[in-house]
Amino acid sequence: MQSDDLPVGDGNSPDTRFDSLKQFRSAGRGFWSDVPEAQWNDWHWQMKNRITSLEQLQRLMPTLSPEEHAGTFLANTKLALAITPYFFNLIDPADENCPIRRQVIPRIEETHVADWEMSDPCGEDSHSPVPGLVHRYPDRVLFLVTDRCAAYCRYCTRSRLVSNATGYDFHPEFDRQIEYIRNNKNVRDVLLSGGDPLLLSDHKLEFLLKELRAIPHVEFLRIGTRIPIFLPQRITPELCAMLKKYHPLFMSIHTNHPRELTAEVRDALGRLADSGIPLGNQSVFLKHVNDDLTTMRALVQKLLMCRVKPYYLYQCDLISGSAHLRASVRKGIEIMDGLRGHTTGYAVPQYVIDAPGGGGKVPINPEYILSRNRDRTIIRNFEGKIFEYEEGNEMQNHKPSETFPVYKNSENFNVPEWVKF
Ligand code: SF4
Repeated sequence: MQSDDLPVGDGNSPDTRFDSLKQFRSAGRGFWSDVPEAQWNDWHWQMKNRITSLEQLQRLMPTLSPEEHAGTFLANTKLALAITPYFFNLIDPADENCPIRRQVIPRIEETHVADWEMSDPCGEDSHSPVPGLVHRYPDRVLFLVTDRCAAYCRYCTRSRLVSNATGYDFHPEFDRQIEYIRNNKNVRDVLLSGGDPLLLSDHKLEFLLKELRAIPHVEFLRIGTRIPIFLPQRITPELCAMLKKYHPLFMSIHTNHPRELTAEVRDALGRLADSGIPLGNQSVFLKHVNDDLTTMRALVQKLLMCRVKPYYLYQCDLISGSAHLRASVRKGIEIMDGLRGHTTGYAVPQYVIDAPGGGGKVPINPEYILSRNRDRTIIRNFEGKIFEYEEGNEMQNHKPSETFPVYKNSENFNVPEWVKF
């Protein structure tokens, strides 16, 4: 059975799987139990000892499936394989559908490319006035600082670029990127991304933050990173002390499954939050990873416990070779319907599709407006109960217009006759 055919579940009934997903466990030491504590907690050691080859992977995981074996064999021509020892310990080698495993271990399906898939699904390259800078929205820019990540996500929307497996040869030109921002007074928001900006040394990252902070019209800085999840050891007190000098500085982390929120990650996020950095999370909606309500509820509730606001849930971009990881929009809407009203509003992310080709983020919501005309709006709540919102006197002063839009969406709900227009 395909995961798309599975029910999303009601997500409300207390179940043991949900309780287990909500636990904060340590990733443990696994194969690296002999490594001294100081080395294990050193992010440079973690980077140096990443799993990057088929041979290493086979040795650590003899249960590799034929699809994974073939995929890993070809990975270095598409998107490199890299997994930190810390993150590797979250993989369940006995479960071929382990949600952690599916995110970082290549599969041969990555070489199956459909006509509608793209290498640059968000149209970033066509919106780059200088190398490494994407200017698609009027008041903000995406500042790419590196093509390296601590580990590589198999659905990465920037896989044309990150890890340099396809020979893209990414070379950011910091001086030109900063100069462009300095010369464009409408840019008030800069998002540092990549690759992962937190792989830069503290010194190099501080250089960039300082240069950007010195530009008077830059109001707001953001860092997009998956480092707190792949490499929580990188979130050192020294890094936090440096970052807090450049407020307002926000951080968008990226996590997809509640098992990624370990005790180590919770502590690293706590250090960032204690430094006054508002934290948001961006998840990608992925088949066999987080396409069920129980998993998603555990993830968003656990994020709040880590002082992180679930910010966006992305429909997986149409990146080449990602069909085996893409869950359907229909299921995404069902899951959003199961979250809104059923759990804390702060825990509910905005579900979006980044419009293929470069149209920007489009919010996707379950339908709550059943019908609407100039006098009233008929809505349904999270329990499916129907309500009428009268606009009364205010709207009576409006000039009647034959073209006033009447919105109807009552087909899927048991709407009584009196509310139908
Ligand atoms: S961490 Fe981000 S940029 Fe790096 S591979 Fe994953 S999704 Fe792509």
